[in-house]
Amino acid sequence: MKKSSAVKENLFLSVEQTRKKEAYVRAYLRRHPDESGIIFCATRRIAETLCKKLSGEGFPVLSCVEGMPELRRMRALEAFTSGPGRIMIAAGAFRMEKEKTDIRFVIHYNLPPSPEDYCREAGYAGLDSERAECILLFSRQDIAARRMQLKNLKNNGEYTEKEWESLRREDEERLQEMIAYCTREDCLRGFLQRYFGEKPEENCGNCSFCCGAVMQDGWEKEGLLSEGERGKSGPKVRPADTLEEEERILFEQLRILRREIASEKKVPPYIVFSDRTLADMCRKFPRTEAELLEVNGVGEYKLEQYGEQFLKVLHGSDAAQP
Ligand SMILES: [Zn+2]
Repeated sequence: MKKSSAVKENLFLSVEQTRKKEAYVRAYLRRHPDESGIIFCATRRIAETLCKKLSGEGFPVLSCVEGMPELRRMRALEAFTSGPGRIMIAAGAFRMEKEKTDIRFVIHYNLPPSPEDYCREAGYAGLDSERAECILLFSRQDIAARRMQLKNLKNNGEYTEKEWESLRREDEERLQEMIAYCTREDCLRGFLQRYFGEKPEENCGNCSFCCGAVMQDGWEKEGLLSEGERGKSGPKVRPADTLEEEERILFEQLRILRREIASEKKVPPYIVFSDRTLADMCRKFPRTEAELLEVNGVGEYKLEQYGEQFLKVLHGSDAAQP
């Protein structure tokens, strides 16, 4: 098994928290016409439904799923490998006999069961060493679906009860790692490198976490912040620089929530709340909606949109402290 193939430097790694996966894929394919890619789904049903829909809309999709007749599978693979611009939708044990080096993206439509599976499948991208993207669409519902799949595995007598139990425990541990990959606020490449016992990178500069921070700085630099969000005058002090250590931890948690909301709504994070607002939130530590309204940059509209979620993070952190 090519363990760390997804860690190759030319692969941009990304996790997108979204429940609107179909819309995400459609928009992605429109932005990347004439590129070859693979979309991995958790089940045959999901893959076939997606393939039917996209093909009905004129996208050049093919499917390759477990249990399909061998001849059809071979034909689909042949069409996929013979030229650029085709999209393969796969489920189950996908394998390619012939190498295809120009795969520009691998999208995981569902949570993979383990980092090993993820890296093997993502590793199909960018074999030509040119830039390629590995995007994992993550929604919490996928966790339950994967657990159900694991639960439904049957011991066909090949293993003793004890062996079987320990195998299932290992499956669960690998799934936990995969969930951690999707939910941790850390360099994605670094996470995989640690998992496979390699020396992790501090900031790989080619994953959604490392680039997300850069993008946000870019937005700030390009003057995309509104009047109220920019410092009026004087030298620029990053809002977080003015926080105490404990406030800073909370600040990071609030930024995580902001990023989740921003990615769900497909807007830059500053549209949700500015750093300045989050910093003020940490200082004032509001407990109620009325108190939240006192925070700089929180108006009625934003209170209604995001108030509850931010209060939850603020309170959760409060409860966790002794
Ligand atoms: Zn990174």
